[in-house]
Amino acid sequence: MTILPDAKLFIDGVLRDAEGGKTFDVIGPWTGEAVGQAADASAGDVDAAIAAARRAFDHTDWATNIEKRVALVTKLRALFEDNRERLSDLARHEAGAAWGAVGRAHVDMALEGWDDYLAVFPQVTWERDYGGRTSYGFETLRKAVYEPIGVVGAITPWNVPLYVNVGKVVAALLAGCTVILKPAPNTPGMGAIFGELAAEAGFPAGVINVVFGSDPALAGEMLVTDPRVDLISFTGSTGVGKRIMAQGAETLKRVFLELGGKSAKIVLDDAPNFAMEVAQTMLVFHAGQGCAVQSRLLVPQSRFEEAKAILKHGYSSFGENWGVFDDPKHIMGPVVSKRQMERVMSYIELGKSEGAELLAGGNARPDKGGGFFIEPTCFAGTNDMRIAREEIFGPVLVVIPFEDDEDAIRIANDSDYGLGGGVSSGDLDRAMHIANRVRTGTMSVNGGMSIAGDIPFGGFKASGMGREWGLEGIEEFLDTKLIAWRN
Ligand code: NAD
Repeated sequence: MTILPDAKLFIDGVLRDAEGGKTFDVIGPWTGEAVGQAADASAGDVDAAIAAARRAFDHTDWATNIEKRVALVTKLRALFEDNRERLSDLARHEAGAAWGAVGRAHVDMALEGWDDYLAVFPQVTWERDYGGRTSYGFETLRKAVYEPIGVVGAITPWNVPLYVNVGKVVAALLAGCTVILKPAPNTPGMGAIFGELAAEAGFPAGVINVVFGSDPALAGEMLVTDPRVDLISFTGSTGVGKRIMAQGAETLKRVFLELGGKSAKIVLDDAPNFAMEVAQTMLVFHAGQGCAVQSRLLVPQSRFEEAKAILKHGYSSFGENWGVFDDPKHIMGPVVSKRQMERVMSYIELGKSEGAELLAGGNARPDKGGGFFIEPTCFAGTNDMRIAREEIFGPVLVVIPFEDDEDAIRIANDSDYGLGGGVSSGDLDRAMHIANRVRTGTMSVNGGMSIAGDIPFGGFKASGMGREWGLEGIEEFLDTKLIAWRN
């Protein structure tokens, strides 16, 4: 059943079908059936988008006219506001967001982040004076100017598509770049709306282009290997991130990579509300499909049994309060696709075969509907198990015991990833000491909110490189030119 409007490409200022009129079905995670149709971009379409973005960067005043950029990005923001309901529908039908999760991570947070970008934008440094210096007997004056890097390929995932699309597109546009947005095949509509509303806002042709297709790699690989594209901003899996870095090397592509994580929350023995801290880590929000979710819970060995009992109770109280499309209180729905369901289920089977103790869940739930439903699942295990080392990207938590603070830090750091994390303690100095020692891009102490549109977000180690959001997120799209002159 088609529910969503057709997702059209936006190339060189024109909303259009794909070459030859090819389309593909958008499969809804709640039903497993088509919820919409999207244009299936050909190589020729992607090439046209790249050419348009290049032309707009090189031959219009987009890169130099700051007032025009701010005015159009602000106008586009207002149009997104007018389309909140459609954005909510897209988040629910394409990404499988539960109604109660739409506000937090999908629509409100993304639009708030957009406002944050506009608010921090006046702080961007465009020029820095380095003063004079006498070399070889004459005086030289020097300054650095910060220029937009050029054409940006923004390759985005399906989990929180609006949030990631805004994180990349709005920052690149404000910096003065032109953009080709390439959303995931599961969530083309959340990309297409950027084209539709940019057309309505009156963006100059080629400044923003949107392409997508049924082949997950075709358009992305073209962006990564094309010399006309200057920077790739990518969020997704580590495997594809590595491939982008390798394939981008040929054209010395600048790359921003956000590649997920296996973040640890450490609850210390003196945490004021131990039971609440443990129970809050239950990985249910958006079925655990978040890159910075805390999917490892570290608790003191002395309180391991107590933590397991708290979790068992927590999951059983959560019960069947998930997986109903029309329930506004639900924060957990299906996982995004059949492929993702198979992947998550294979990790659950792996956890059992590795000898982890299943505390809750563990089953696929076809009784919830024709879509891709997996029960909230929790294992007690050790950090050497693959379920504790690899990103599952589903509703699967692993609780692990530690001996003392040093051991907790060691376990948190014993991971390829380093994206998020948390620590809870009644002693702020003790918690801060641990926060400083965990090698990760963001850290939450006693529940502090480490993700917002006005602060930088990104990873250490295999979680990626570069920063998105905040002032750093805009400056990621600038390059430095040094000018030295003699009077
Ligand atoms: P993915 O990395 O395959 O896809 C992300 C984006 O990259 C999509 O737009 C996709 O079409 C594009 N892409 C795929 N192959 C490409 C290639 N060779 N070159 C250029 N672009 C390419 O992620 P996925 O298939 O959506 O999910 C697989 C796993 O990735 C998940 O299970 C999860 O672990 C992880 N993931 C992480 C995040 C995150 O926020 N870090 C988000 C989504 C998925």
